[in-house]
Amino acid sequence: MTATAHALVGGAIAAAIPNHPALGITLAALSHPILDMIPHWDFGRGWRQKSKALLFFQAIADLIFGTVITFIFFGKTTDNLYLLMAILASESWDIMQAPYWLFGWKFFPFSTFYNFQHLINKSIKAPWGIITQAVTVTGLFLVLRTIH
Ligand SMILES: [Zn+2]
Repeated sequence: MTATAHALVGGAIAAAIPNHPALGITLAALSHPILDMIPHWDFGRGWRQKSKALLFFQAIADLIFGTVITFIFFGKTTDNLYLLMAILASESWDIMQAPYWLFGWKFFPFSTFYNFQHLINKSIKAPWGIITQAVTVTGLFLVLRTIH
């Protein structure tokens, strides 16, 4: 999924369990591959056809936008360091495979993260791939709200 969707879910998990950072950060990390199994669109779609510069710019923009919007949602209610760690954990799988895409570092551990995600990632075209993502994030927001 987009970095924005991953960040929002990581943030929602942290906000739902404010007193257990170790658990929240672990769950945020685990949420990444689970979310990627849901058919979705993201900037990684067709990455081989994109220039490295475009791919890098889109990935960074998505990451920054996702972090800012997650802080807008949860920054006032959740410890900010914990929130940032949960966001980073939720993005960690893609951060670990970014060198594979961007620099062609096709060796451990980057290749391992790439191969695993390539195996489980379910990519579909926009707009359906954006709608599935919006529905998933909204649904998780509502479920996680009831926990806290
Ligand atoms: Zn991913």
